[in-house]
Order: sequence, then structure tokens, then C-alpha cells
Amino acid sequence: MSRPPVVLLVEDNPRNLKLARDVLEYAGFLVVVATTGEEGVEQSRTTLPDVILMDLQLPGIDGYAALELIRGHGQTEHIPVIALTAFAMRRDRERVLTAGFAGYLEKPISVREFPAQVRRHLPRHDERGQP
Ligand code: MN
Repeated sequence: MSRPPVVLLVEDNPRNLKLARDVLEYAGFLVVVATTGEEGVEQSRTTLPDVILMDLQLPGIDGYAALELIRGHGQTEHIPVIALTAFAMRRDRERVLTAGFAGYLEKPISVREFPAQVRRHLPRHDERGQP
């Protein structure tokens, strides 16, 4: 049996963090969390996750700065980083994509669709596979 995909979730809002974590764990992901940009960068290097979900507004360095550090590090530069953007912040979208994020997902997340939305960014994912 193959190992579960590992997701690094960087989110400072406790409710958003818990919801996203619960939904992903229920869907079979192994979830590692960080609540600041700095911690997220550090975790990306120690965990080497398959995919990273990055809130943009974080205490300390923000999601954009964290992305740059992840992109600038040889061991993590290839890992897809998906921005978690607040629904209202529509102008963030263009900036997110030009900054080098692999995509963005809007908060509040859709409990029903979230696991598949994350799975789509896994390297060599299988649409039919689990999770
Ligand atoms: Mn935040």
C-alpha cells in the first residue's frame, strides 16, 4: 500500500485550520500544520510535503514571503504551493498566480470539494485513486 499524501497546511486562524485539517484527514491525507510563515518554511524543509496550502495573511512573514523562501530552497523549490485566499479578496488572485503559487483555493473552503481540489495538485496524482 502506498503512503498517504502529505499536506503542509499553513494557517493562523484556528477555526480555518481545524476545518481544513479535519476534512483532509478524513479524506486520507497526512496533515502537518504550521501557524506562522516562518514555521511553515521550516516545516517545508523538515517534512518535504507533497503539497503546501498557504494562507496569505499570517503573523510575521506573509504567504508571499514564505513562498519565496520555499521556492528559493533546493529541497522545496519543486513542491506545489496553493494559496488560501479569502473569498472577498478577488484582487489577490492575479497576484497569487504571478507570484508563483500553483493555484489558489478560496476560503471558506468547500467541505465537499476541498480534498479533490487539493489532490489535483499532487504530483503524479491519479484521478481515480484514493485519496
Ligand atoms: Mn490568516
